Amino acid sequence: MALRRIIMLGAPGSGKGTQAKFLGDKLDLVHISSGDLFREAQKNGTELGKLAKSYMEKGELVPDNVTVRMVVDHILPLKDEGFILDGFPRNLSQARALDRALEEEKIPIELVVNLKVPQDILLRRLSGRRMCRNCGEIYNVYTLPPQVEDRCDKCSGELYQRADDTEEVVRHRIEVYTKETQPLVGYYQHRGKLSEIENENDINVVRENLMRLLE
Ligand code: ADP
Ligand code: ZN
Repeated sequence: MALRRIIMLGAPGSGKGTQAKFLGDKLDLVHISSGDLFREAQKNGTELGKLAKSYMEKGELVPDNVTVRMVVDHILPLKDEGFILDGFPRNLSQARALDRALEEEKIPIELVVNLKVPQDILLRRLSGRRMCRNCGEIYNVYTLPPQVEDRCDKCSGELYQRADDTEEVVRHRIEVYTKETQPLVGYYQHRGKLSEIENENDINVVRENLMRLLE
């Protein structure tokens, strides 16, 4: 049975973006990252982008009403293709809104993968993270460096550090995660949809564990 609708859960720095992209490619699902959608809106200078920026640079959540509408609008056209969500939902109210929208269309979430990483590792990962300005590919100066310094392996785009990856904002994002997002683990466990994977080690070990989970 091929899974069509998956949520990737995890703290900032847990590697959920990297693993969601990998899984999306493997399973031929559209990868939807709420953070990427907000960054895209900022790049395009839209009202949504401006609003999102004011929250993101502080490490706060963007308000639920705009976030839910943005993501649901992206998902509904993908009814038949399937999708993997990364960074959404991020609190209980978003999770309930998502469930309602998907139930109406009879396309419920099938699997939620929670990537578990100890807090001390999260901080190091985030401070080393670099992103491609052009294609959004993610690197890490410690654990996943590009072949040429500050250049994307895939498209030669310029790599940059996100404004919200500074230590102070990172600490706040982890606090927000613990308070707002962590309760979703219980929410999906209760609904029989949760699988957990440790993501402390090698990126390839995690990939293997992910693939095993899907068999
Ligand atoms: P990370 O998971 O590493 O923090 P993301 O790119 O997923 O990175 O999110 C970056 C920022 O975008 C968040 O700190 C928040 O401000 C905003 N954001 C992303 N997804 C959501 C969401 N579902 N609800 C509210 N805000 C969000
Ligand atoms: Zn690139």
